[in-house]
Amino acid sequence: MIEIKELSKSFGNNHVLKGINLEVDKAETVVILGPSGSGKSTLLRCINYLETYESGSIIVDGQAIGKREVNGKLVDSSQAELNKLRQEIGMVFQSFNLFHHKTVLQNIMMAPISLKGLSKEEAHKVAMDLLQKVGLAEKADQYPASLSGGQKQRVAIARALAMSPKVMLFDEPTSALDPETVDEVLQVMKKLASEGMTMVVVTHEMGFARDVADRVVIMDGGYVIEEGSPDIIFTNPKEERTKSFLSKIIN
Ligand code: ADP
Ligand code: MG
Repeated sequence: MIEIKELSKSFGNNHVLKGINLEVDKAETVVILGPSGSGKSTLLRCINYLETYESGSIIVDGQAIGKREVNGKLVDSSQAELNKLRQEIGMVFQSFNLFHHKTVLQNIMMAPISLKGLSKEEAHKVAMDLLQKVGLAEKADQYPASLSGGQKQRVAIARALAMSPKVMLFDEPTSALDPETVDEVLQVMKKLASEGMTMVVVTHEMGFARDVADRVVIMDGGYVIEEGSPDIIFTNPKEERTKSFLSKIIN
């Protein structure tokens, strides 16, 4: 579903991604771990082209992201192509980015109406089904300000799902939450994974990585330094840097 080859990205002379190779199968859940500054967010942002990149390639479900080949040369995708690709890749951020002056229901209905051309009735049905799924149907007419962090994040997940994405990217979705609301968000993600969504998740939640990930990828200094099943990575990692990173976050 996702195929990343030799992806390279700099900010000025800060070389942040130094040749990333990563494949994610359909219905697979990949958890990315790594120290702060190792390039995890930048990698996710490149996958839906919120960031440009200098070289390498990203293909999602057969479609090149950001650049495509024309007469043997790579050219940048047009804005229209990018908008279409982005609709197929859902992203959930640490900060929920909900619209504060819209109700929960309106937050979820907006994009399907304006970008996918759903009627109001269709979008309403989609939104209510998704609110049911994330356990928040009774909050449909509330404004985000009245929700807890965990509830806001579940709305943000429902909003991303409303576009029927092929892939969901999560960038530390629980790290801004009060501890008591972390689990409700992880449960929703776990359910999504079990239903066959293709997911790439950056998180420090080791329990989630152990239980839900099909594969764990360790990044450090702009490289993927190691990857494998959670069993192997957590009990018998090969790389010293993986051991040292894990020893700091697992008590
Ligand atoms: P992580 O998510 O693993 O903590 P990031 O991808 O956020 O790492 O950052 C990797 C590096 O890229 C850091 O050195 C960070 O300062 C730099 N960086 C990230 N975003 C930007 C940006 N928009 N402009 C300049 N530098 C950035
Ligand atoms: Mg980050």
